[in-house]
Amino acid sequence: AFRRALKRLLQEIPNQGSRCYSTEARQMVTMIPGDGIGPEISQSVKDIFSAAGAPVDWEDVDVTPVKGPDGNFRLPPKIFDSMDRTKVGLKGPLATPIGKGHQSLNLALRKAFNLYANVRPCKSIEGYKTPYNDVDLVTIRENTEGEYSGIEHVIVDGVVQSIKKITEEASMRVAEYAFAYARDNNRDTVTAVHKANIMKMTDGLFLKCCRHVAEQNKDIKFKEMYLDTVCLNMVQDPTQFDVLVMPNLYGDILSDLCAGLIGGLGVTPSGNIGQDGAIFESVHGTAPDIAGEDKANPTALLLSAVMMLRYMGLSPYAQRIEMACFDVIREGRVLTGDLGGSSKCSEFTEEICRKV
Ligand code: NAD
Repeated sequence: AFRRALKRLLQEIPNQGSRCYSTEARQMVTMIPGDGIGPEISQSVKDIFSAAGAPVDWEDVDVTPVKGPDGNFRLPPKIFDSMDRTKVGLKGPLATPIGKGHQSLNLALRKAFNLYANVRPCKSIEGYKTPYNDVDLVTIRENTEGEYSGIEHVIVDGVVQSIKKITEEASMRVAEYAFAYARDNNRDTVTAVHKANIMKMTDGLFLKCCRHVAEQNKDIKFKEMYLDTVCLNMVQDPTQFDVLVMPNLYGDILSDLCAGLIGGLGVTPSGNIGQDGAIFESVHGTAPDIAGEDKANPTALLLSAVMMLRYMGLSPYAQRIEMACFDVIREGRVLTGDLGGSSKCSEFTEEICRKV
């Protein structure tokens, strides 16, 4: 832990106090503001980026599905054009359904851009009271297969079957990403989370791939742990974990558990990483009960945008924006309702802009 803290500190020193990085070329980002509170929190992120002087321009895209000639709804062509050009997207929450089920549009985006790794850093925020105050871990979830492959059928009346599909290709890809992420972010250990004792073939293959990648990345420590053991240990002492990599379903559940440890989805960022691009998003919903009232907390989308800046190679800006956001929360004077305060989204945003 000391080595990790020191490495981070050394990495951060050149960024302290430096406010001008004017030599960088500006980069375009696809912005999907989303529904409900989406436009308010997206504007907040834009204002803070602008105050920080981040060299980012935004291309707003509405992803409301359009009806094709066959009568089926699909993503509008503009999102493909935009992502083809920018390769990076920031997305607010979406309420617009494709067919049935509110997850469909999010799923459609993941499929369309082959976003194979879902990354969720969970870091305790000083001043925001939660059961633990020193959590600092990252879950990396395989995002394309497993139980969520969508292969389900009826065998006979009253008996249904769902196929868990695991491939060497997808497992290697996400394992390689996990080790690269650990190295790039000065982290020590990758833990593969599995149930290979029961799912001998599927999780067995996933684990085999993780072991193989670990062999080629000996500078990063490798551990393997059963999912149930991870859950037990996680609630007893989350500080023992660093980077965790796992198949789709386990990641879906465990990442929400980890978000709960640091205060919930309102402060948890996420990124969906693909071969040719990435989309970063807040994981909370559209909060229709407070939409348009200037009450939303923009932290989750802002921290997702901070992840995005690091992905884009703009770490100094990421560092400064993240610190400004954490400072405002720690000071506790200007907080939105969900964080225990009574300030508006715009006031919280202005306070971060002042510090950035
Ligand atoms: P929700 O997350 O929108 O709201 C749950 C509660 O948390 C509400 O009280 C809300 O006010 C509060 N909340 C959420 N985000 C907040 C923020 N940033 N600041 C302050 N308070 C916040 O969950 P829900 O009510 O179940 O879903 C509402 C809509 O969002 C649904 O249409 C659902 O389909 C959609 N949804 C979208 C996503 C996504 O796009 N990733 C995820 C979940 C839900």
